[in-house]
Amino acid sequence: MSASQPKVGFVSLGCPKALVDSERILTQLRVEGYDIVPSYDDADVVVVNTCGFIDSAVAESLDAIGEALAENGKVIVTGCLGKRPEQILQAHPDVLSISGPQDYASVMSAVHAALPPKHDPFVDLVPDYGLKLTPKHYAYLKISEGCNHRCSFCIIPSMRGDLVSRPVDEVLREAEKLARGGVKELLVVSQDTSAYGVDLRYAAREWRGKSYQTRMKGLCEGLSELGLWTRLHYVYPYPHVDDIIPLMAEGKLLPYLDIPFQHASPRILKLMKRPGAVEKTLERVQRWRAICPELTIRSTFIVGFPGETEEDFEQLLAFIDQAELDRVGAFAYSPVDGAAANALPDPVPEEVKQERLARFMALQAEISAEKLERKVGTVQRCLVDAIDGELAIARSMADAPEIDGLVQIQDGEAAGLRAGDFCDVRIMGSDEHDLFGLVGDDEE
Ligand code: SF4
Repeated sequence: MSASQPKVGFVSLGCPKALVDSERILTQLRVEGYDIVPSYDDADVVVVNTCGFIDSAVAESLDAIGEALAENGKVIVTGCLGKRPEQILQAHPDVLSISGPQDYASVMSAVHAALPPKHDPFVDLVPDYGLKLTPKHYAYLKISEGCNHRCSFCIIPSMRGDLVSRPVDEVLREAEKLARGGVKELLVVSQDTSAYGVDLRYAAREWRGKSYQTRMKGLCEGLSELGLWTRLHYVYPYPHVDDIIPLMAEGKLLPYLDIPFQHASPRILKLMKRPGAVEKTLERVQRWRAICPELTIRSTFIVGFPGETEEDFEQLLAFIDQAELDRVGAFAYSPVDGAAANALPDPVPEEVKQERLARFMALQAEISAEKLERKVGTVQRCLVDAIDGELAIARSMADAPEIDGLVQIQDGEAAGLRAGDFCDVRIMGSDEHDLFGLVGDDEE
């Protein structure tokens, strides 16, 4: 890149959805001839993509803006916190511009105003799938924006609005480009993947000469044509999820579902304004496992929600035990500025929240350790993320990047593995979260 290119620094905070926004902005910047630089000193202007989901994320975003202002001075703010400009301006009145999530046009016009583009067709070698912040072999695929639910602890719908799905052919074309760019694993993300397409009345669209509906099943059928690993995140246990389990059993989709259950007591689920048919959910999970025994279920839960009694909490423990969830993240409830749940009575004292969180995590560690131990002696198909000394750090079909466990392949380097390679691994050992093995492909 020539020394005269205008230079933009970029700070990307928040969830995978925000990461996809960052990738789109970075791609557009490169298309227009901007150079992306890794330090405040080198940058002519800095874009900060913020998160506003919980109070700690707001604080982190405000800190990042403050740091960029102190180090560079010219700062453009975008992302979820941009929906609350007064909060940003109160702390940092000198920012150049503020815009909300997915508002790529506003970010670009703020960049143009601060730093006019210098187009040079000879340096614009942007790959046709855009710029990605993830390693070359996996990518997040955002299928929709916004959410039609109104969970009482969440302010995402007020920040991002109601569900807006991307037509299925558009998503499939993006996936195709990613596959051409060397991506081996697609991570489908949204706020509510099961609701995909409801706003478009499941419109059918053509892709590669075949018709697909804009709905979860149609999308999965299309994606399975690409022969990649496809992993679904943020799925709700609605009845039509049943339709995609056979695709998992046939090996067309990874046998993996990330379902944010959040709680299991019908009373608390009602206060959270989430669907509360726990009996049916358990039955459904058991039916899915009968069709696809390999199915891994990951979930997240909130403990210590206002009004949660010891009995509610024990219902939650019984649920994770009976449903044998493979991977679980849990948070002690903390109020989010602007969320309806803040008005609920009977807050749970902090020490009780922490004590419940510890009990929850201890039970989950036991379940996880036991489930992983059952894999010792099996052969698991893995995707290598990195080489670390003699080890190859990989993931099996049961492990999403960043949030789940790993498979450490002890002879990975000796076997000549590289990031992005698939290989079969004989599992020799396990602990609470990870598996350990050797390259090998024959079942005993
Ligand atoms: S489903 Fe609930 S928690 Fe998730 S984004 Fe929608 S409102 Fe928020």
